[in-house]
Amino acid sequence: MDGSSKKHDLARRVDTLIEELQEHSHRYYVLSQPTVSDAEYDEKFRELQKLEAAHPGLVRAESPTQRVGAAPLAGFSTVSHKVPMLSLDNAMNEQELLDFDEQVRRFLSKDGHSVDAIEYTVEFKFDGVAVSLAYEKGLFAQGATRGDGTTGEDVTSNVRTIKAIPLKLRGAAQKSGRIEIRGEVIFKKREFEALNAERQARGEETFANPRNAASGSLRQLDPRETARRPLYFFSYGLGFLEEGAGLSSSTLSQTMLEIEKLGFSISPGFRTVKGAEALVKAYREAEEARDSLPFEVDGLVVKVNDYALQERLGFRQRSPRWAIAAKFKPVEAVTTLNDIIIQVGRTGALTPVAVLAPVRVGGVVVSRATLHNQDEIERKGLLLGDRVVVRRQGDVIPAVVAALTASRTGKEKPFRFPTSCPECDSPVERVPDEAVTRCPNPNCPAKTHNRILHYASRDAMDIEGLGDKMVGLLLEHGVVTSLPDIYELTVEKLHDLPRMGELSSSNLVQAIEESKKRPLSRFIFALGIRHVGTKTAAVIARNCHTVEKFLTLTEDALVEIEEIGPETARSVAEFLGDEDEQKFVERLLTLGVAPEAQQGVVSDGAFQGKTFVLTGALATLSRKDAEEMVISNGGKVSSSVSKKTSYVVAGESPGSKLDAARKHGVMILSEDEFRSLLKV
Ligand code: NAD
Repeated sequence: MDGSSKKHDLARRVDTLIEELQEHSHRYYVLSQPTVSDAEYDEKFRELQKLEAAHPGLVRAESPTQRVGAAPLAGFSTVSHKVPMLSLDNAMNEQELLDFDEQVRRFLSKDGHSVDAIEYTVEFKFDGVAVSLAYEKGLFAQGATRGDGTTGEDVTSNVRTIKAIPLKLRGAAQKSGRIEIRGEVIFKKREFEALNAERQARGEETFANPRNAASGSLRQLDPRETARRPLYFFSYGLGFLEEGAGLSSSTLSQTMLEIEKLGFSISPGFRTVKGAEALVKAYREAEEARDSLPFEVDGLVVKVNDYALQERLGFRQRSPRWAIAAKFKPVEAVTTLNDIIIQVGRTGALTPVAVLAPVRVGGVVVSRATLHNQDEIERKGLLLGDRVVVRRQGDVIPAVVAALTASRTGKEKPFRFPTSCPECDSPVERVPDEAVTRCPNPNCPAKTHNRILHYASRDAMDIEGLGDKMVGLLLEHGVVTSLPDIYELTVEKLHDLPRMGELSSSNLVQAIEESKKRPLSRFIFALGIRHVGTKTAAVIARNCHTVEKFLTLTEDALVEIEEIGPETARSVAEFLGDEDEQKFVERLLTLGVAPEAQQGVVSDGAFQGKTFVLTGALATLSRKDAEEMVISNGGKVSSSVSKKTSYVVAGESPGSKLDAARKHGVMILSEDEFRSLLKV
């Protein structure tokens, strides 16, 4: 290819990118109905940035890299921002955050200044809509969106309905002049779900995520509609400040404290950190905290704290040089809902599962997502063939958040929930007052399959080699038809199965044999009783000690146990009173299963009255074992550190709980010290 046609291709690519990004920006900023994920948008944006950096001749004035947001929506009056509302540059990972710190220091040392470790403020990057709030002599006067950075929409009447925004500033200092408070209007996660469910029920378009819900709700032409939406506001700084209006700090962190005093919420965890290492640590901690927040954040915003340094650093085209948004790994992507299949669990519950066109989310390819139950599909109004937002967070199974109703073509089809079990064809039952639909057939092969899998799982009877494929093989060849049959397996029987050698057969028989003597708590958990997880099973085991006693427990006796709720007590009593289940347990015991008796709580145990918090990985104990040791010695385990915590046990790579322990002066124990307290 010659030079000129290569250039031509590049120019065409730039044109295409600009056109696509403009279309997406319009849908995102103006209509609040995007059709692609932020990660997809960001990828295209970065491609354009790179092309423009390599070929400055291709930079166009209308390129989204040269401007902020989008022009205001017709229908609103416009407001010009005295101080522009800019965007932020992004760092996509730790290295890019370190690069930012280096650039800041390099820039500041240009004119011969010596530069030490820089002090930065750190705060969450709220995923909402930026607004500027003007106060005149302490009274709320005007609210405006960011718009294209210089001209925004006048949303004063709508802003007035947001309860988290004070109409009058607190404190006496702000009696004169104009102050602009800048920040983000957001929608909390739970309220977002409720809003979407309501809109779906009314046949209205749903929002793809809380950000779009916030933007759509704030930019309503009728403020009464905004008033109905539970919007919230976090401030992250100042805009225009009239001389004499107070707030004359020399650092951003002082300003933020002053803003808080005026009656605004600021980012939880807002603080200053010094130097690159502390910055990376703050970034990691913020990403860890992300899931536990009631609102969406998509990164950590880092700003140089000292205003004098900010001034020297100045601005680029669309963003300040003294700030960066260190983005977290994306957790959402947009893909197509190709199908919905039904899985039958060990309790017979029918769970719909979304079959998706494979899509990358945060580095992992997702092709399935849970839909929980029939109501959820209806609440979200999902149609087969819909473009959907998929969310993958931490270790949680991916979920479908919402359909992009704006992308519908008319070819989408409704999904009909089956009326009979897809595995055994028995008519299914919907339990009154519950969202679950169940297959009532006790011999349903899918139930048996999942029951065995659960029974053999690591936290239950821990039978190595009895995984999904193996269980499928055993059931398919009729070697096993119910769970207790596994205890009648022999090397000969297994050897006849395809792909089973002598060694693997004898290993499996051995593993099954070893499972006969697991502690009672594991056995109770392995039975797969509804509402009984590992913790509840341990509580029951500690209270009844032996399997014989367990089998005679009544609902009344169960309710007496402090940590057991009425629903769980009922579920356990129902299980124990069910004739089929009784026969099932009896058969297990007859076949040699003999759960080890467990000692109860030592009322004068070494840890009586003591509260423990565990953090980091312990070398010789699993988290569960350590918790169990604390509880069986009379102590309690808590998930957060407070003044009431007696000890924090810190393993390898401890989290922020260790800092909290230091802050509260709580005694910190190593794993060895913890063990030596118990003399084990
Ligand atoms: P941005 O959202 O990446 O960052 C700048 C904004 O962050 C500021 O304007 C401010 O509103 C906000 N912010 C939140 N917390 C803050 C804090 N603590 N301090 C300072 N500012 C804070 O920038 P942008 O230019 O508005 O938007 C670009 C982003 O929007 C892209 O990264 C993309 O993900 C998304 N987008 C998506 C689509 C789509 O179709 N999905 C289209 C356009 C844009």
